[in-house]
Amino acid sequence: MRFGSVLWNGTPVIAASLGSRWFNFTVAAARVLPNDSMPFSERIRDVGDLIRSGRFTEETYRKVADRVAADSALADCWLEGTPAFTLPWRPGKVIAIGRNYAAHVAEFDNQLPKEPIFFAKANSACIGPGEPVCFNASLGRVDHEGELGVVIGKRACRASEADAMAHVAGYTLVNDVTARDMQRAAMAEGNPWFCAKSVDTFCPLGPVVALPGLFPEPVETPLEVRVNGETRQRSGTDRLIFGVPRLIAAVSRFITLEPGDLIATGTPEGVSPLRDGDVMEVINPVIGTLSNPVRVVAEG
Ligand code: MG
Repeated sequence: MRFGSVLWNGTPVIAASLGSRWFNFTVAAARVLPNDSMPFSERIRDVGDLIRSGRFTEETYRKVADRVAADSALADCWLEGTPAFTLPWRPGKVIAIGRNYAAHVAEFDNQLPKEPIFFAKANSACIGPGEPVCFNASLGRVDHEGELGVVIGKRACRASEADAMAHVAGYTLVNDVTARDMQRAAMAEGNPWFCAKSVDTFCPLGPVVALPGLFPEPVETPLEVRVNGETRQRSGTDRLIFGVPRLIAAVSRFITLEPGDLIATGTPEGVSPLRDGDVMEVINPVIGTLSNPVRVVAEG
């Protein structure tokens, strides 16, 4: 019940998991669900297309996956091994939550928030698994921030906490890469820190999106960040100050959330500066490992 975006013979398609294997969901769905006004495979090319089509659901997944498992005519839909995932989709909006783990609040000597603090990251910063996070050495300190990402499946405008989960399509991993020196300088002058969060390549996400049914509700799942194989952040979403329903209610009170939008739920303690050649891994046992190398370009 996980979906990723891959290239299949040079064409973007969706891969879906079944047990420990992956199959070409786009091609399989076009054969299993043929009663569309347009052929399924021509419009459902990545995870975002699937979400916006309203079919990013356990029901659709089951219909297709059960047939792939049982029907030898669909045997050619199986993919070899674990496919090389690309950016699952480019979110319309990326809303990130600040100060949502008490131990992370403490490491920066900040106050515990009374209400969720949120800000935007430009969606142009989004990159997929394996793509390098690149920045100029003149930026100074740049940190990793591993986070659980909530993928919006249904439009949410002034959603209540009680209804909030109906708007969730699934979960992914986000690395809210942050130009820390730039952010601190902006805050010191009372300026927005949008740029420090939105530098090109500063929003790796993926590798896949997992359906909510794979998690307990409220979502409690481990989160770890390793740099060059060494653990830097280790926590879990059971320690979120504001849980997912509260975040959706708080954001959608002012900002309508659309299908394909992403909420990064905040990072736990252990953020640390990145160096050229580092390899970051954001790890969750259900979603997998979001791995991205770091390239620091010399000034000039
Ligand atoms: Mg963050």
